[in-house]
Formats: sequence, structure tokens, C-alpha cells
Amino acid sequence: MKAAQTSFFDGGQRLQMTESIELTLQSLQAYGADHPHWGIAWSGGKDSSATLTVICWLIDSGRIAAPKTLTVFYADTRQELPPLAIAAQHIMDELVERGIRIEVVRAPLDKRFMVYILGRGVPPPNNNTLRWCTRQIKIDPMEQALRDRLGELDGNILMITGVRQGESAIRDRRIEMSCSKDGAECGQGWYQQVLPNAAGLRGRIATLAPLLHWRVCHVWEWLKHWATQPEFGDWSTATIADAYGGDEAEEINARTGCIGCPLAQEEKALENILRSPAWAYLAPLRGLKPLWRELREPQHRLKKAGIERLKDGSIAKNPQRMGPLTFAARTMALDRILEIQRTCNAAAQEQSRPMIDLINAEEEARIRELIAAETWPDGWDGDEPRADTVMPIVYQNGAVQPLLFVEDMR
Ligand code: SF4
Repeated sequence: MKAAQTSFFDGGQRLQMTESIELTLQSLQAYGADHPHWGIAWSGGKDSSATLTVICWLIDSGRIAAPKTLTVFYADTRQELPPLAIAAQHIMDELVERGIRIEVVRAPLDKRFMVYILGRGVPPPNNNTLRWCTRQIKIDPMEQALRDRLGELDGNILMITGVRQGESAIRDRRIEMSCSKDGAECGQGWYQQVLPNAAGLRGRIATLAPLLHWRVCHVWEWLKHWATQPEFGDWSTATIADAYGGDEAEEINARTGCIGCPLAQEEKALENILRSPAWAYLAPLRGLKPLWRELREPQHRLKKAGIERLKDGSIAKNPQRMGPLTFAARTMALDRILEIQRTCNAAAQEQSRPMIDLINAEEEARIRELIAAETWPDGWDGDEPRADTVMPIVYQNGAVQPLLFVEDMR
């Protein structure tokens, strides 16, 4: 039998929670007053949702003075886990009821994750050479949204992020930007680090992470037991905690990011969601991560044939580098993802559960249009050989090692 869990409202733990909120309050009092406008970079994950709802509660309850304007920037990558996307929608409704302005921040159609891979042919991101995704689907759109908003405002803006480091943050006064580790929320550290230096934003934006010192157990406690109560705002945050594993969320320590994120080692968040009978119909989503891995294989890509001269006449560092996805690979992947979507949605209809749209009609049409127009990423024209073609090896200094055993390899 499971031991009875102690509640956060018990003695010492409640005190810790109160102290954490007090530090948050102090940081907002210290920095907030210097900025007439505040923005909150919110991804729907646990840390940024806790940040958003704590700040709204502190304002609503009169503990901090409201800024002249407050804008919530919801980063919608179109790759969010369905329960988190649904919870975000509920919270947006609650923000609207309070009269808070929301900007839904989305990459332009051609830059979205699915369209960029399947339409333009850029391989799925990885941890080594090709991490294009965070900048493209999160940071660049956020920069643009901020530029647009600042165009309407006088003065500067304080951009509030959900970066959180727990007790170590206070100890070593260092913010770690990694968002591929367990428990982190992809993008938040980048907002903290990159946005203040972006072109057109320098000097007009400062960042603040008012929950930097919160321990992860405080985040869960806030989302599940505090924010849901009328005295703290009556927010729809319990779903977020449930999506991460409810009472076991802390041990599971899932990272927040896209479904099937090719950079994460494990799909902890998705696996946890699938453990719930209500969400089990989304099991076909497990097929996304292996698909991204498969698409990086040579048989699905082109490669440069020999010495590649760059625009400035120099020789590219990595001769014969692998490049974009073939049309056959893109079409195969599109079919497979649409099949995953169809299977999930057929089950959703049967069980009266929410449907998903991994690729919506507009995105599918655009992907097919880009394939039909024979679109390749910059620097590729489609005449290159497939990457599994056996060829003489070209070294960086231009030396060529001819094939041995040519006959055998044909
Ligand atoms: S969650 Fe993964 S796929 Fe999504 S932006 Fe972050 S690193 Fe890229």
C-alpha cells in the first residue's frame, strides 16, 4: 500500500513555498517598477505556466503593482503534446476573462517544423550539427512578436521567462541555458539569453526569471494545489501537472518540448501521458521519434559529390556532406505522419476524446506544393547523388581516394 503523502500545506514545506513566493515577489518589486510594460514568454510547460499564473495572482491580489501593459506571448510551435496544448487553451480563456492581452506566437507557415522538413527537405534536427529547430520555431517568432509589440509601445519591456534552476541558482548565481536536460523547458533559457541581444530589441528589452530559485516540487505544488484554488486564481493548471505524471511528476522529471523531439533521449512526457487510459489512444504518436531518426539515414538524403566550393571560393570543411531529404523520403514521411494522425483521430472520435492535428490542411497543402515545385534548401539543386551512393572518398585538402573493389560495389 502506498504511504499517505504529506501535503504541502503541512508545516515546513508550506513555509518553504511561502518563502519561494516571497523571493519572487521581491524580484518583481525590485525590477518590475523600472519597466512600464511586461511580457511573459509562455510555452504551456510547467515552469512558464507556474510563472504566468503566479504573476497574475500577485497582481490580482494587489501584492505587486500592475504594469502599464501586460502581454502574454504564447509560443505555439504546433508540436506541443495534446494535453498541454489543451490546458494552454483553457488558461488562455482564463486570461481573456481577466482582460489580459495574449499574442499567439507561431512560425510562418514555411518555417514550421513539419513544413520545413517535409516541404523544404531540411533533415530533422539533431544535437550535433543541425539544431535549427529551437531558433526557428521558438526564438525567431518570439523576437518578431516582441518587435511588433514594441512598435506599439513607448518605453522598454520586461520579458519574464520561466527559467528555473532551483536552489543552485541562488547558490552559484548562474543561469544554465541547457534545455535538453531532463526537467527543463525547451526555449525558456534561450528567451532569457538571446532575446535581449536580438536586432531591433537591444536596449529595449530586459529579462527576468522570477521563479529562478523555485524547487521543482514547488512548481508542482503550485500548479496542482495552489493555483487551482479560487484564492490563488482558480487556474486550469492541474492538467499540466497531470500530463507530467501527477504525484509522480517530480520523479519522472520529464522535459517539456515537442512531441517526438529528436534531441531528447527519451519520450518521458509522452510515455507518461500514454499511461493514462484517457490519453492511451494517442499511442501512435510513438511513431514520430523513430521516423525522425530514420530520416537522417543516408538512403533518404542527398550528398555533395566531391569538393564543394563555397560562395567565397573556399573549400567546404566537410566534403561529401549529407544534405536534404529526397522527395521519396518526404512523401513517405508525410504519409506516415498523416496515418498516425488518422489513427489517433479515429480512436478519438470513437471515444469522444480530443482530436489532434500534427499537420493541418493548410500545412499539408503547402508541403505538397513545395514537393511538387521541387523545392530544395539553399545550396542544393537536387542533382546531387543519394547519400548511400558509394563514391571515391574526397578529403578536405582535395585529395581523392579512389574506390577499391569497384566491381564488387556496383
Ligand atoms: S523540443 Fe526538441 S524539436 Fe522542439 S524545438 Fe526544442 S529541441 Fe527542437
